[in-house]
Amino acid sequence: MARIFCIANQKGGVGKTTTTVNLAAGLARLEQRVLLIDLDPQGNATMGSGIQKADLDNSVYQVLLGLSDVSGARQLSESGGFDVLPSNRDLAGAEVELVDMDQREHRLKEALQQVNDQYDFILIDCPPALSMLTINGLCAADGVIIPMQCEYYALEGLSDLVNTIKHVHANLNRDLQIIGLLRVMFDKRATLSQHVSAQLEHHFGDKVFKTVIPRNVRLAEAPSYGMPGIAFDPSSRGAQAYIDFGNEMLTWLDRR
Ligand code: ADP
Ligand code: MG
Repeated sequence: MARIFCIANQKGGVGKTTTTVNLAAGLARLEQRVLLIDLDPQGNATMGSGIQKADLDNSVYQVLLGLSDVSGARQLSESGGFDVLPSNRDLAGAEVELVDMDQREHRLKEALQQVNDQYDFILIDCPPALSMLTINGLCAADGVIIPMQCEYYALEGLSDLVNTIKHVHANLNRDLQIIGLLRVMFDKRATLSQHVSAQLEHHFGDKVFKTVIPRNVRLAEAPSYGMPGIAFDPSSRGAQAYIDFGNEMLTWLDRR
């Protein structure tokens, strides 16, 4: 059975997609079977995995609406070495269409049962909102990984996310837990980053991952080549950090 993790934070531009794509590629390099699910209508994780979002016959949208199964919509990311359940703008309509559906929070979870035993990890890239799409992600998952930038406003909004996770845990998915906070785009020379980072460790203790992802331009360049940073420049500091993070996840699972 696959371990299913959501990469979530309702802020935009905090590194969710970069983390999902590179953790998927990192785990694939560590010989894990990975499915990445793009739950964002922007389709950034789809494009960043080298899949053209304009050309999709089926996507996560059709899967959520019961018009396709996962095996009829997934594609291989050749550069990343993992499977992708892709997304595009169609998905923006799902929010409204799901409202009247049975078990609307559990559509993704239901759909994944068919492929659960084909993967070691399923990683879900969430949209920047606490919407029905994100709720579908949280209902399908065992855990949440929260990427954060260590800046002044980092903690703002975190309580909304934590409350949503608590609500889902209490009412919809008893298996859900916060796995940890991941510091991303970290600038170790900046005093503010150091300060916020220390604050996170103080408040959240061992819920803060040991791995810190540095700000690294190679990670930002990679998507325009349709590649995870790990494949685009494996020796870059950013790529190395995401491989470390993959190892940290495997160690975390071993301890359980
Ligand atoms: P989100 O999915 O939360 O909106 P993204 O992963 O798309 O965030 O990241 C936002 C922007 O920051 C993108 O342009 C991405 O390339 C860039 N970025 C993300 N992580 C890093 C990093 N560690 N170093 C440099 N740029 C990064
Ligand atoms: Mg994104």
